[in-house]
Amino acid sequence: MNEETNYTHECERMVREQLLGRDIRDERVLQAMKHVPRHYFVLPEHRYLAYSDGPLPIGHGQTISQPYIVALMTELLELKEKAIVLEIGTGSGYQAAILAHIADEIHSIERDKDLAQRARATLKKLGVKNVSVHVSDGSKGWPENAPYDGIIVTAASPQVPQPLKEQLNNDGRLVIPVGSRGNQFLERWIRRGEKFVHEQIAPVAFVPLYGEYGWKDDQWDW
Ligand code: SAM
Repeated sequence: MNEETNYTHECERMVREQLLGRDIRDERVLQAMKHVPRHYFVLPEHRYLAYSDGPLPIGHGQTISQPYIVALMTELLELKEKAIVLEIGTGSGYQAAILAHIADEIHSIERDKDLAQRARATLKKLGVKNVSVHVSDGSKGWPENAPYDGIIVTAASPQVPQPLKEQLNNDGRLVIPVGSRGNQFLERWIRRGEKFVHEQIAPVAFVPLYGEYGWKDDQWDW
């Protein structure tokens, strides 16, 4: 099985059973998940599992998130037309490719330069032109292109990093897993002027967000 193997049925089944079956309703998200070939973003030995209902290892101790979680987090952003989005944790580049179908401009930050390089190559191979991958500590955000209409963090933070709140546009949404190993909740923060409305969405299990406003290298396993 290679990248050219036809996975259309697996992909359609994923959308039907894992997304529609769990109440993902945003048509733009469903269309994006139907069109982005997830099997390009996983390791060759896991290609046959690309559309299965779970996360997969992508090397360097990291993972590509479960399809349902990718869809849920994208839906929670409630992106308007011509949105500019910041993603923290590029990983394989799959989430960025989904966002690229819906938003105008995506800035995706990855701390691991090898993963960033691989994600860039995959996105290029698929002709995705509106994603810029930057190597940096994403816990500080990416002030260069702020403010963002949506910010999505795909690694768990001990708390919501203040710079991310500051880089959010008015009425923008920040979607982020908050907590430690074994005790995390997906949260959504909506900016209303200088105030934020926030809600807890669901328990989740992400790898750690490291960095200045994230976990310190030796803290995660405590
Ligand atoms: N969104 C990814 C995808 O679609 O494949 C999955 C991301 S993976 C669950 C989490 C990623 O966050 C890892 O690639 C990890 O290296 C990255 N990460 C962790 N801390 C980071 C930080 N401070 N800045 C940028 N990336 C970070």
